[in-house]
Amino acid sequence: MASALRPASVRSLRVVPLNIPLRVPFGISRGSLDFAANVLATVELSDGTVGYGEAAPFPAYNGETQSAALEQLAGAASGIAGRDATDWKGISAEFRARAGSACGAAACALETALLDAVTRREGVPLWRYFGGAGTELETDMTVTTGTPEEAGRAALDIRRRGIRSIKVKVGGPGGANADMARISAIVEAAPDSPLILDGNAGIGRADAWHLVTALKSRGISPALLEQWLPKEDLEGMRALGLDSGWKVAADESVTTAADALAVARAGAANVINIKLMKAGIVEALEVVSVARKAGIGLMIGGNIESILAMTVSACFAAGQGGFAFADLDTPLFMAENPFDGGYSMEGGLISVAHILSGHGVVPLGA
Ligand SMILES: [Mg+2]
Repeated sequence: MASALRPASVRSLRVVPLNIPLRVPFGISRGSLDFAANVLATVELSDGTVGYGEAAPFPAYNGETQSAALEQLAGAASGIAGRDATDWKGISAEFRARAGSACGAAACALETALLDAVTRREGVPLWRYFGGAGTELETDMTVTTGTPEEAGRAALDIRRRGIRSIKVKVGGPGGANADMARISAIVEAAPDSPLILDGNAGIGRADAWHLVTALKSRGISPALLEQWLPKEDLEGMRALGLDSGWKVAADESVTTAADALAVARAGAANVINIKLMKAGIVEALEVVSVARKAGIGLMIGGNIESILAMTVSACFAAGQGGFAFADLDTPLFMAENPFDGGYSMEGGLISVAHILSGHGVVPLGA
């Protein structure tokens, strides 16, 4: 976290809904979305510099909603005028204390807008602000829930885009047999793709072991078993990793640094999927620090986010360095892009090297 930033007084915070239609519904084991019901936060500094932040609540993931995020951020708008935006961590801590526990996406939007404004003002790109370790990441792309035929077609489409690593949502209706049918169709379409199998905490122990057995009998070795079991079942996660011999990632199990510490102590995961939307950027930095100390690998992911929020996550992970897994594909699922700028993508390779100040994303026409 390099640069010293000059104090910068906040003039205003404005908040509006950001609704973006999806090309196809985005399904996970516990629900699905037809459009991204997000929130755009705009911070203006007293010198006229503007910064933008996005909240992407995902009700099926953790119960946060667009209406709650709008309300939480509108509540912060009145008290923020005159505050020093470089104290973004302090402003965020007060916001989170007032808004309660389910405000991760809103906190992320507020922190992003403040950070974007102060780094734009200084001409510092966010990837450099976050450490400057690097500017590139290789992202996977997700096959969401659907029939085996749809999954096979989606896998072909992913390979045609030049993306190598495939993430598959598992644990939907139909249990291990339905999952195996979809996974088999994907492996047939993309035999050499590393597979990340994401259960979104929707698989019970019996079904989990069943699925491991079925995968082994087909000779399929996933690169990562992401959060198959309920988020509290740290013991089960540890056993799943030991019994399968495959890497286990914690996603829903880790929102805060305290959660990361519990996962580390239980030996429950080899990798933690960090998302800025879970509890905001301040907390995500703490999770990274706990994971590094515990020797746990780093993954960057997100909710159903536009290029704005995903560029911030790309700057975070590339700038911090050491992220072996990246899942920053959701702009590809959107039917419209209401923004200019953001990360560039060639095949699965994301780059933020061209971003010269802040996150570099602005609303069309701004
Ligand atoms: Mg996940």
